[in-house]
Amino acid sequence: MENRYKMRVMAVTIGTLAALSIFITVRYRRRRRSQKCPSSSCYLRGDHCQNQKKPQHAFKRVLADNSYSPFKHLKKLHDSPNENDLNSHPYEAEITALLDNPGLEFSFMNEYTDLKMSETYTWVETETQLKELVDVLSKERVFSVDTEQHSLRSFLGFTALIQISTQKEDYLVDTIALHDAMSVIRPVFADSSICKVFHGSDNDILWLQRDFHIYVVNLFDTAKACEVLSKPQKSLAYLLETYCGVTTNKLLQREDWRQRPLSNEMVQYARIDAHYLLYIANCLIAELKQQENEISCPDDKFHFVLEASRRSNMTCLQLYTKDVEGFPGESAASSLSSRHLNGQGGVSSNFETKFPDLVRRLCAWRDIMARLHDESLRYVLSDQAIVALADRAPMTTTESLG
Ligand code: AMP
Ligand code: ZN
Ligand code: MN
Repeated sequence: MENRYKMRVMAVTIGTLAALSIFITVRYRRRRRSQKCPSSSCYLRGDHCQNQKKPQHAFKRVLADNSYSPFKHLKKLHDSPNENDLNSHPYEAEITALLDNPGLEFSFMNEYTDLKMSETYTWVETETQLKELVDVLSKERVFSVDTEQHSLRSFLGFTALIQISTQKEDYLVDTIALHDAMSVIRPVFADSSICKVFHGSDNDILWLQRDFHIYVVNLFDTAKACEVLSKPQKSLAYLLETYCGVTTNKLLQREDWRQRPLSNEMVQYARIDAHYLLYIANCLIAELKQQENEISCPDDKFHFVLEASRRSNMTCLQLYTKDVEGFPGESAASSLSSRHLNGQGGVSSNFETKFPDLVRRLCAWRDIMARLHDESLRYVLSDQAIVALADRAPMTTTESLG
């Protein structure tokens, strides 16, 4: 009983301290942003100064902050407060309408389009260029999209690049330079008369909501089409190889997408991820239609195309949420402890009680530091380091003295 009380007091204390320190640091950072930082006064051996160079510090409006408060979704102007609380999708009605009444025209390319990727592409980094892109996209019936993220030097991660391709042009949108201007592109993503083609869109859909309040309405996901067709593989690399004879090096996923200018190799990789999607979608739709026609009995007719479209639009209904924990770092701590203790046969009962407690404290510290300094958990302290530290800590007074 006493123990439980102690734990509760500790949890409340750590929670309050965490909230307070995040609040103070955010205010302090805001105030210091415009000031020069002399290296001698910097804490964390100058890391605070280096942090000033992090591109996210230039973002004026951050929709998902590192606090423990829930994410606030977009509220449309005409929505009444109870109609659209924090947990409802601002475009639920539009997406549901599409699910009930899908468009019947699924043709994403005309026959005369050249599949080959041209030498040129458009780099979009100013508000004027972004508005011009929106003008182009609003006249299209379909365009393809992919995004690249940066996650190592940020707690929640952020979108560093959005690739958009029409039949005529590849656009690379610098979402670091344009972070605070991205709202102008929201309407084309939410326009249900324009189809957006993605591959494996689950994460992209959530990242676009998290960073820009961009909600996708009318999606065709080529990975969902692969599922409906029971393809042996559904990776983009497989589709590129099979339909376009193009190889892509997926290791580039892990590059630092904050880098400017992007290397030629990264530009090429990023363009490939969106450029061929319209053609691939067209091929998959032809196969889905063919499957429909091969079923001879009209009563059993399975609408393959509509099923792929339905599964895609179901993805759009997902909502971004921040992870909620009763105690900072709690879920990481319990999975680390149980994994480690399960892998070790016959440990002493003293170890069995002290080890999880140490892991819990280390995970709490890591969680708070990562939020404060806007770093990923793995950048602050790796899982292996937590286990090693907790493993080697003295368990008895004799061990401490020895
Ligand atoms: P993709 O659409 O496949 O290019 O991936 C989009 C983003 O997801 C990348 O920019 C990475 O940030 C992240 N990502 C995907 N797969 C991996 C991976 N295997 N390792 C690290 N990051 C990944
Ligand atoms: Zn992607
Ligand atoms: Mn990509």
